[in-house]
Amino acid sequence: MLGKTIAAISTPYGRGGVAMIRVSGQEAINICEKVFLPKNGIKLSKQKPRMAVYGEIIYQNAVIDDGIATIYKAPASYTGEEAVEIFCHGGIQLARNVLGAVIIAGADYAEAGEFTQRAFLNGKISLTEAESVINLIDAVTDEQIKLAASHRRGILSATADKLYKKILSLVSSTYAYIDYPDEDLTDIPCDELKTQLCEISAELDKLEKSYKTGHAVNEGIKTAIVGKPNAGKSSLLNSIIGENRAIVTEIAGTTRDTIEESVKLEHIILRLSDTAGIRDTSDSVEKIGVERAYEKMDEAELVLCVFDGSMPLCAEDKALIEYIKTNCTAKKCIAVINKSDLDLNQDTYNQICKEFETTVTLSAKEDSGKEKLFDVIEGFFINGDIDYSQSAVIANARQYTAVRKAKEYVTRALSSLEQGFTQDIAGMDLENALGAVGELDSRSVGEDVVRDIFGRFCVGK
Ligand code: GDP
Repeated sequence: MLGKTIAAISTPYGRGGVAMIRVSGQEAINICEKVFLPKNGIKLSKQKPRMAVYGEIIYQNAVIDDGIATIYKAPASYTGEEAVEIFCHGGIQLARNVLGAVIIAGADYAEAGEFTQRAFLNGKISLTEAESVINLIDAVTDEQIKLAASHRRGILSATADKLYKKILSLVSSTYAYIDYPDEDLTDIPCDELKTQLCEISAELDKLEKSYKTGHAVNEGIKTAIVGKPNAGKSSLLNSIIGENRAIVTEIAGTTRDTIEESVKLEHIILRLSDTAGIRDTSDSVEKIGVERAYEKMDEAELVLCVFDGSMPLCAEDKALIEYIKTNCTAKKCIAVINKSDLDLNQDTYNQICKEFETTVTLSAKEDSGKEKLFDVIEGFFINGDIDYSQSAVIANARQYTAVRKAKEYVTRALSSLEQGFTQDIAGMDLENALGAVGELDSRSVGEDVVRDIFGRFCVGK
């Protein structure tokens, strides 16, 4: 695959000031020499690498545009290969024709993410750094940009690398023990090994915990809005997202199915589901909605339980409170006491405050009080001000699984030493821990994972 020279339009499909055509591979410069004629009269291949040169672009024997080209010599390019970037005016057909000229001259169309995949395969960037490129492109919040930029700069890769080296040296020591069990010069004393494993475990623990924030920032928190019919769930969803996405009416049971919406708060993303009002119903369609509401609540990481604060608690409210007390102990729940613009029912307020650790009073209809709700939610998932430039933060489930696996193996190794087993037993677990840390920064991931990651890319990156 690396033998081919590939080309693509790297800028978005559309009208704009400038479009960029990227070419990478052994023949990139030779190919582009046929398409781009520098005005300074020096052939493209003789131009200074990484210096922009002005010239004319030729397509079907005619000059179709003037623009800028830059050549890169391997390995000093994004992909680590010979590469050229041609900047032309940003017309849709014009950019297509420039790409066409490069293809006719000998390049192949690049696949989605192929440039970055080459950078990865050529050892220019780790998988974590490659993933951060797509995360940077996809980012919709400032916080996602900061997190992706920190991965792009290698903060997580460096942490993984340090851990990898530490575990590797312990694995080597335990192998030395297997090879020379009678000589105590090669193995580390057991206490020292345990101390080092405790340190490694603490570092893995820190990484594992960072996923709480990384997940909230990068992937978003699954949030279910639940409550009896007419409590104000749809109004709350609308107030949160700031537009009329869900239908709001006075007829109980309007929201018969769940409605999904993503919304960004200051730092994190909420993936909201507005569910059907929970009540006992004979309507078969509504019944399905109610069942889904329970499913959504079970799947959610955060439950916003909405009550009509102007009314006495009814049987449906009480049943919901009981359900949450029994089934939602492991997740974050907030009682949203709605309709604060009306006279609050003091008994309702007191009872809810007794049942829930966290309550927020607001008016969804008047769009007031939601800032307090946002602060409380952010407080659940963001630990103070994270300095992404200093601390490694796990950003996705794949990285999280790798860290958890590594921690599990290190814990097992520690416990076998505690139980008095010899170091070679711990060594087997440490070898597995090494593999798991390798997965974190791409040393030991399978081809399917690599394919999956690059499958998320756009063409031209
Ligand atoms: P859902 O069935 O729980 O989704 O409730 P809706 O959001 O459809 O609201 C039901 C009714 O309560 C509608 O008439 C809303 O206008 C009204 N409502 C919702 N929130 C408030 C609020 O904060 N104050 C007042 N006064 N009425 C509200």
